[in-house]
Amino acid sequence: MTLAARAIADLRWVAAYWPDLHDSRLHGTPAAFRRVQLTAEQLDERDAAAWIERLERTPEAIGASPAPVRVPVVDLLTGLLADTAYLADELAAALSCPTLEPPASGLADARPYLTFAMRRLGEPAVDDALAAWAYGRTRALVSTVARGLALIYDGQALEIECPWCRGVTPETPAGGAWTWKVRDLLGGRACRHGLPDRRFCVDCEQQVVIVCENDCEPPSKAVGTWWHGFPCWRVYEWDWLAEQVRRAATPTARLEPLRDDEQTASYGGRA
Ligand SMILES: [Zn+2]
Ligand SMILES: [Zn+2]
Repeated sequence: MTLAARAIADLRWVAAYWPDLHDSRLHGTPAAFRRVQLTAEQLDERDAAAWIERLERTPEAIGASPAPVRVPVVDLLTGLLADTAYLADELAAALSCPTLEPPASGLADARPYLTFAMRRLGEPAVDDALAAWAYGRTRALVSTVARGLALIYDGQALEIECPWCRGVTPETPAGGAWTWKVRDLLGGRACRHGLPDRRFCVDCEQQVVIVCENDCEPPSKAVGTWWHGFPCWRVYEWDWLAEQVRRAATPTARLEPLRDDEQTASYGGRA
């Protein structure tokens, strides 16, 4: 995959999870695990307009919420929007294209800028240097969204039956238990920058995963990482994971490997 294609994939991922961050800001309740199937074409203006209309309908003032998690998410959204608009502008300038209007507010929808940047990166005039620069920016956007998802979802059980163990536990021998949880594997560590909660720190590393906390043994090629003997998948692998969930619900579909190689990282050792 070229650097430009990787950068586009990053932007698509950010756009797909953008509504989760917005929903969490508005309602303070975790959304159900999204089965991300968006394509660049689906992120059209009609979608963005509907989204803005929905924001305007909410009577709740920004920052007035008692939920502690929301203020950092709002900060994060504002930063994401600024970084995305900057990326879109720089790409337009480098390619001598007209730019988009700047965001109307710090809480505007970032998806038009994401879509714009994806289209620019798909142009043949994008050279290696520009693609490399853009990829550095898109990696940072992905990390920021991953951090936001951890703020929303950390510790949450997902309403999903694992495609590998099928939710078979001692309590539910017939299967169907929800065994997946979102965890920030580094969540127990202290912030190295003096903040009371490192999850809200933009400088500390995050390791956000979905863990199947069950006696679960997927084939090694389907496991992102092991954590204390449980299979887990980093936030960057969730699209693939969502696809496996979808396939598992389709009788004729087969699960696909995550990777071709056998390299699997391990945290905390295998039980
Ligand atoms: Zn499982
Ligand atoms: Zn820190």
